[in-house]
Amino acid sequence: NLAGKTAVVTGSNSGIGLGVATELAKAGINVVLNSFTDRDEDHELAEGLARDYGVEARYIKADMSSGEECRALIETAGACDILVNNAGIQHVAPINDFPAGKWDAIIAINLSSAFHTTAAALPMMRKAGWGRVVNIASAHGLTASPYKSAYVAAKHGVVGLTKVTALETAREPITANAICPGYVLTPLVEAQIPDTMKEYGMSKEEVIEKVLLERQPSKEFATVEQLGGTVLYLCSPYAAQVTGTTISVDGGWTAL
Ligand code: NAD
Repeated sequence: NLAGKTAVVTGSNSGIGLGVATELAKAGINVVLNSFTDRDEDHELAEGLARDYGVEARYIKADMSSGEECRALIETAGACDILVNNAGIQHVAPINDFPAGKWDAIIAINLSSAFHTTAAALPMMRKAGWGRVVNIASAHGLTASPYKSAYVAAKHGVVGLTKVTALETAREPITANAICPGYVLTPLVEAQIPDTMKEYGMSKEEVIEKVLLERQPSKEFATVEQLGGTVLYLCSPYAAQVTGTTISVDGGWTAL
């Protein structure tokens, strides 16, 4: 029974993070939402989850590009039975034109943040006698695409960090796994559609099928609810021996 446990989901005021936090709240899990902003609407998201699902929900501002703020997020949360490392950004450019600052930011937010939060959360999980680390990697944690050097490197790094976390906790009731989504229609992806329509002179439907879902054989987006359900499975007793692995939710992308 997961009710009453506490989950910290990084980067969860939108998209996959918010979707995962919502599914966890539906299961009675207390949730800590996070991003780097501190707006009324951020706190209102947490209030909404508390009201709708009768759980404790809080929003804690912390910038996942700072190791100290990553650790402070876990300390401020006070409890962390389930850690979902989800915060992430993207930048697309060829290596020779890739801004060094963007490289550093992507490595910090998409990879190093998971190291810092995991380091802070493992002692709490050990004290509680149970824990789940779920890292949101990507199909790009297993395969590559041109122009996404920092993102692909960071996501492969997340998969490696996941394996080490699993080995270091193998004899304890703690597991660590990575979920590798294909394309999910979040605000981030949706925002790319109008520009791509212009660039290729395509309709919205053509952009979705021929550009976005080109490598996703199902020709359907994965949903944030499906990702939340995958996190819940990893938190369930069925998954107690599932550790150090990746679960693809990508409509067949990595089978190609
Ligand atoms: P999104 O932009 O909707 O969400 C990203 C979240 O990270 C937001 O809540 C944002 O506020 C937060 N964030 C960004 N920088 C931060 C920082 N410095 N500190 C704290 N929070 C920060 O995008 P999304 O699509 O929901 O992506 C979530 C995760 O899923 C990312 O790690 C992304 O790489 C991964 N992913 C997304 C897709 C997809 O198709 N959308 C596919 C595979 C993997």
